Amino acid sequence: MSPQQAYNELVGQMKEISLLGSTASLLAWDQRTYMPRQGAEFRSQQLALIAGMYHERFTSPKIGDLLSQVESTDLVKGDSVEAANVRELRHKYNKETKLPKELVEEIVRVTTLAETEWETARARSDFAMFAPWLEKVYDLTRQSAEAMGYEGEPYNALLDNYEPGAKVSDIEAIFTPLRKDLVELLGRIKNAPRRPDPGIVERNYPVELQKIFGEAVAGAMGYDFSAGRLDITTHPFCTGIGNGDTRITTRYNPKRLNDALFGIMHEAGHALYEMGLDKKNQFGLPAGDATSLGIHESQSRMWENQVGRSKAFWVYFLPQAKRIFRDALADVNLDAFYGAVNDVRPSYIRVEADEGTYNLHIMLRFELERALLNKELAAKDAAGEWRKRFKSYFGIEVDKDSNGILQDVHWSAGLVGYFPTYTLGNLFSAQFFAKAKADMPDLTKQFERGDFSGLLNWLRQNIHQHGGRYRANDLAQRVTGQTLSHKPLMDYLNAKYGEIYGI
Ligand code: ZN
Repeated sequence: MSPQQAYNELVGQMKEISLLGSTASLLAWDQRTYMPRQGAEFRSQQLALIAGMYHERFTSPKIGDLLSQVESTDLVKGDSVEAANVRELRHKYNKETKLPKELVEEIVRVTTLAETEWETARARSDFAMFAPWLEKVYDLTRQSAEAMGYEGEPYNALLDNYEPGAKVSDIEAIFTPLRKDLVELLGRIKNAPRRPDPGIVERNYPVELQKIFGEAVAGAMGYDFSAGRLDITTHPFCTGIGNGDTRITTRYNPKRLNDALFGIMHEAGHALYEMGLDKKNQFGLPAGDATSLGIHESQSRMWENQVGRSKAFWVYFLPQAKRIFRDALADVNLDAFYGAVNDVRPSYIRVEADEGTYNLHIMLRFELERALLNKELAAKDAAGEWRKRFKSYFGIEVDKDSNGILQDVHWSAGLVGYFPTYTLGNLFSAQFFAKAKADMPDLTKQFERGDFSGLLNWLRQNIHQHGGRYRANDLAQRVTGQTLSHKPLMDYLNAKYGEIYGI
């Protein structure tokens, strides 16, 4: 077989394997949206079966042979798409082949059940109910890290699943100066001479009107409803099933405009990345997939924050919002509204946090999951430890565990090592957006006209079309000419809050 033939065979194999994976994604979407509660046990069997089949096919010696036949040939010289696909498939293959099939199936089975238990525990704010599941998930996650192998601590093996190549030491190197600068900024905001009135966004916002407005905003961003849909879930998410099918979900609070609105913008931002990947030609291959979760999150956070929480965006959308939410917004002007959606204060829920405090939520989770994984903290003590650390980070007491450790889906779903990618996303997003503005000096004017196509095209061109061809840090370097740093995010936050708070 020539290297080209081996590569073509590999592409064909990966396509079929990824069709299995996308079938599981569709079942998981259904589990979180429409599946009846009593269907959880059966669904866990379906998902475990598919995960086992996926694992078996992907780790078969045949895939290893095909990779070997292509590696070190002219076909994968330089930084071609083929080279990137082979490089990243090899990385994944070497990790995945170390995992026993039984463990892969058990993780899927247990996390599917744990997620349903978590939903109930969260609704009842009952940590004791969830604690045994947390312990089981961490046991299995630890086993998978041990099987895959790592340098330093087990967390590195898991982090690499979401942010290929990243290490705990990289995260710490960026979190430490970021934390220092954020604490300093939050201190200045606390003593600011003026404050916005967040009450404006905490009036009556009927859910059916929020849905209409949210869909209009997502449509203006470029989210294509003929290639997607919007449903309701406990924990909002986006899932790219395949070409022509990228779905988003949200949750509505009739007393607060921000949650669903910025949630929809966030998930639609993820969806635009998925929709911009080359799934026609590269489906099932790294070049047709997101390069890392940090980059994925940079897209969602950019639309949610740099766009959705900008004044220019509301120059266009506030008049429309006033027509839809007649009662709630009748007396509200642009500056007051802009201030209200940018109000900074310590709060319990990460996904609803302002841009100033958001990253502290991530740092708290990063510390706790490392402690749980390293067995420095027992699962049963995790809620208490959360409360303690939350108080020291935010200066307020957690009132109930559904506002504390039970708020996020991740640990029940087995997503350990995932949280830092949210902060990486914020950092990448600020760095990319600064470059987009430099490349398009009239970007603010475009937003004021309700035109977001310039930004979307820029993202398609610079980020989306490459998929996983470049790893996250290489992509940032290529696009912005800079390595990842906390400075662009702090510059952006200092400028924004400087104006709003008069500091
Ligand atoms: Zn996200």
